[in-house]
Amino acid sequence: MNIVSKLSPLARMKLYLLSYGIDIDLVNLYDTYGTNLVGYKTKTSKSFPKVEEGRIVEKIDGRSFSIPSEIKISRDGRESIAKVVFRPESPYLLTSDSENCFMRDKNSKRNLDLVVELCKEETCLKSRVCGSTLDNFLSLIGADRISFLLHTGCQNWLTGDQCKFCNLFALSRSRNKVIPNIDDIHSKFSDNISEWWESTKRRYYYCLKKSLAKVASTIKLVPHTHLCLMAGNLRNVSFQWKIAIELANVINEVTPLSQCDSYLNMMPVKSMDIMEEAHQVGFKKVQLNLEVFGENTYKEVCPGKEKTIRYKVFVNSLKYAAEIFGTGNARTNIVLGIQPISRVKEGVIELAHYGVATDYTVFAPKRGTPFEANPTPSIYEVADFTLYLVDIYRKFDFKPIYCPLSSRSSIINEQFYY
Ligand code: SF4
Repeated sequence: MNIVSKLSPLARMKLYLLSYGIDIDLVNLYDTYGTNLVGYKTKTSKSFPKVEEGRIVEKIDGRSFSIPSEIKISRDGRESIAKVVFRPESPYLLTSDSENCFMRDKNSKRNLDLVVELCKEETCLKSRVCGSTLDNFLSLIGADRISFLLHTGCQNWLTGDQCKFCNLFALSRSRNKVIPNIDDIHSKFSDNISEWWESTKRRYYYCLKKSLAKVASTIKLVPHTHLCLMAGNLRNVSFQWKIAIELANVINEVTPLSQCDSYLNMMPVKSMDIMEEAHQVGFKKVQLNLEVFGENTYKEVCPGKEKTIRYKVFVNSLKYAAEIFGTGNARTNIVLGIQPISRVKEGVIELAHYGVATDYTVFAPKRGTPFEANPTPSIYEVADFTLYLVDIYRKFDFKPIYCPLSSRSSIINEQFYY
């Protein structure tokens, strides 16, 4: 039996859409939802060379097209949000009639047995705070996850030791100027990290509080509120945790962390006292991302992380985190596809015995990175690993990260709750 067919219908369909991508019939979508899909969650595609069923959308140089960035898919009364991976060669076409959108199999020309909706954008994210739109300070991911940064940048990039699959540098150029940027520590503060933070934090706290207050008073985040504070690597990890705790106190004035499904996502700290403080301030979960399993692979794939904290120390920190935050509340993310799945499974079980839950993102090669030519894992590998992980979660009483309405690129929730 094909392993993919063991997945729940919704998990299977989402896996296909994430792995093969989605072609988009922009002509019909613009007819139904308006030009540029104003009011819906979109991203920009610089070109749109599209030929489908005799209809042509010409590629016009220099013009940008808004295409959907997230869709809600439902089947048998179960719902999920999926990230739209735009691929003109995909066998699936997102199109619409005069009222609704739907997904079509381009080969059979049949509509898929799936209810599809474009996700609406929360208009309050476009209101202005501190000279920028609010979505420059925080992101709303899926239906109910708020995510924001402690600072922009990652020190591994400054030293040329970045993780080999990561393209953060390309993404971070467009960040707004209010969020403290670690690139400034050396260039503007002569490596005085305390001075950097003290002189940049006040304006950021003010703007972030205003942004959070606006979201809290305008948007009802349902079914949950997942709140994630995250940061790239700062070599002085103790300092980074201390400023995260300081920022957590600021967040608590608007949205108490203890009342949300709250996460702190950073490199681990060796001090159990500092970790305990992060728990006391309200974080319910920590995400300390190993990215890969095994000392040598970690060293090879994530050289900057390894310089910050050695593999064995990292694993020990995860053990401590599980003691402090509780079993299943210390989590680590693995990039699936970088190393043999059998090795990843070994790592998952080893950590599960310490009370640490493993999550995954599927490796996708990013242009300009050392891994740009590496292959992505097959749908069979992703299905096999997901089924394995669900068994581990059940055995160790763990839950998947976030929920089907905010975890856009994974199928673990769709399988676990089937
Ligand atoms: S620590 Fe995170 S942000 Fe920094 S290089 Fe690695 S993956 Fe990228």
